[in-house]
Amino acid sequence: MKPAPFAYLRPTGLEEALAALAKEPGAKVLAGGQSLVPLLSMRLAAPSMLIDINALPDLGHVTASREGDGAGVRVGALARHAHVLADTAAGEVQPLLALALSHVAHPTIRNRGTTVGSLVHADAAAEMPMVLRLLEGSVDVASVRGRRTIPAAELFAGPLESTLAHDEIAVEAFFPALPATAGVAFQEIARRHGDYALVGVAAVVELDGDTVARARMGFVSVSDVPVVVDVTDALDDPAAKALAELEPAEDIHATAAYRAHLVKVLAPRVLAAATDHARTRAGEVTPA
Ligand SMILES: Cc1cc2nc3c(=O)[nH]c(=O)nc-3n(C[C@H](O)[C@H](O)[C@H](O)COP(=O)(O)OP(=O)(O)OC[C@H]3O[C@@H](n4cnc5c(N)ncnc54)[C@H](O)[C@@H]3O)c2cc1C
Repeated sequence: MKPAPFAYLRPTGLEEALAALAKEPGAKVLAGGQSLVPLLSMRLAAPSMLIDINALPDLGHVTASREGDGAGVRVGALARHAHVLADTAAGEVQPLLALALSHVAHPTIRNRGTTVGSLVHADAAAEMPMVLRLLEGSVDVASVRGRRTIPAAELFAGPLESTLAHDEIAVEAFFPALPATAGVAFQEIARRHGDYALVGVAAVVELDGDTVARARMGFVSVSDVPVVVDVTDALDDPAAKALAELEPAEDIHATAAYRAHLVKVLAPRVLAAATDHARTRAGEVTPA
């Protein structure tokens, strides 16, 4: 199908983009277009105007820092998934980014789709919203009214719904660094590699000596929003703890019972892999 008619604007400055967005209530931001363009073509979205942000300056960055309060990876609104995935420093500072990004769609889509666009799109079947939520990251947004930071815990309101106001543009996402004594793991089951996951599971495990001091798990494609469960007190059976808090959804791709089964299979595996990763990293930094 073809999209309904819309006006098109390609501003070259952020202020211009924000002013246009504030003036046109029916407008939508266009970043990589890998989610929005299919919605337009199927007429599931019919904005009056597309504000294409691809000519805005200074938004294509991926910067990684190990130092201080700001230790982590900053991803600009025009950084493509492929760019983030290929950034070695980002992968070292926060390895979960690359682990999860390698499961996001196919290379052609990763070459165009943006990581920040994926966060704003807020699909609970997408990897990046869960990763941001699990890592307790945030998104910086701008509007004609100023700037604000939205913590991941407040970003995802419902299916395909983030808490950005209509006139806000997300300019940068922040993924906190992995502490030296922590480890991560991610696995998903999809029909084909690159398809959306039937279920995806990630874990972050923090050690105190050889003991697990904190273990949290994130789930993709299980509920309407990305869900994170603290399993520190359920290391022997993380799936039972998770399933007590999750309500697996049923859709054309999988029954709720099959999703629950995948959680039972993946959760212990992923928790064990993250714990091994934490022990390996702690061993690398602890003097013999
Ligand atoms: C065949 C296919 C398979 C895919 N598989 C996966 C997958 O397995 N996992 C996965 O995570 N994703 C998958 N995707 C989606 C892909 O990752 C998208 O690129 C991503 O979800 C959206 O990023 P985008 O830059 O393309 O955003 P767009 O499509 O341009 O925009 C998406 C939405 O976010 C808004 N938006 C985007 N950027 C901003 C911004 N900076 N500020 C404010 N609003 C903004 C837009 O207005 C729109 O509502 C797939 C896509 C396709 C077509």
